[in-house]
Amino acid sequence: MATAPVLAEVLEVLEAMHPARWAQPWDAVGLVCGDPARTVRRVLLAVDPVEAVVDEALDSGADLLLVHHPLLLRPVTSVAATTAKGRLVHRLIEAGCALHVAHTNADAAAPGVSDALARVLDLDHLVPLEPLAAEPGRPELGIGRVGTLPAPERLADFADRVAQALPATEQGVRVSGDPDALVQRVAVCGGSGDSLFAQVRASGADVFVTADLRHHPASEARETAALGDAGAPHLVDVAHWASEWPWLAGCADRLVTGLAARGRTVGAHVSTTRTDPWALRVPSRGE
Ligand SMILES: [Zn+2]
Repeated sequence: MATAPVLAEVLEVLEAMHPARWAQPWDAVGLVCGDPARTVRRVLLAVDPVEAVVDEALDSGADLLLVHHPLLLRPVTSVAATTAKGRLVHRLIEAGCALHVAHTNADAAAPGVSDALARVLDLDHLVPLEPLAAEPGRPELGIGRVGTLPAPERLADFADRVAQALPATEQGVRVSGDPDALVQRVAVCGGSGDSLFAQVRASGADVFVTADLRHHPASEARETAALGDAGAPHLVDVAHWASEWPWLAGCADRLVTGLAARGRTVGAHVSTTRTDPWALRVPSRGE
């Protein structure tokens, strides 16, 4: 009968799925707290290491909370429980729940965060927008993805499908471009993708789906797009959390499968707590 792994074995499987060396140099991935010798029976996967998610982890009896975003990205000199982040570290340690981060290394992996976003939008023939330079023999690795839809779609219809495919947020889905334009080649980047416009243009994408599009990068990208015949790439802006959430289910499956291959068994569950920080959208006048 399969038995539960210790945390060290879980970390080996996670490292095989998305090695820490694939992370960006500025990132902070890996184990934040936890004893590698402790048994892991239950894992909760979530995008954000915030209080509501820690509540969910501890309420469900999780031994490991696996998150996408780092809790501690910049150096700290204290994790006292008087700070918001220190309080979470205390709660996790006192409950015997480890915390592990898979961030830009999970973006670069294949399947990675943007693959999952692309798949829920029915994209196929996926390649990275920016290949991972550190792994020349692995062209499938890298940031963002570009792929194709089975058939051309009106931009407005495509955006509607994006809204249906992702978890609900107050922001919903914002679109820049002619609603009747036809799109088939689609670039996606889970999370903040506005540093990738050059790669998106080079990919020949008709539309770019990402999050956190700020005024100036978006405005300049649209002005540049207007110089072309088709006005591409059009832009579809979604909530950051919603764009990364689809990755969790596949990650959970791969973790369970990877451990099963070693004769180990865990329960892996995807958080359904909505951690998008926006709680209310007030319609503009006349809307
Ligand atoms: Zn993110």
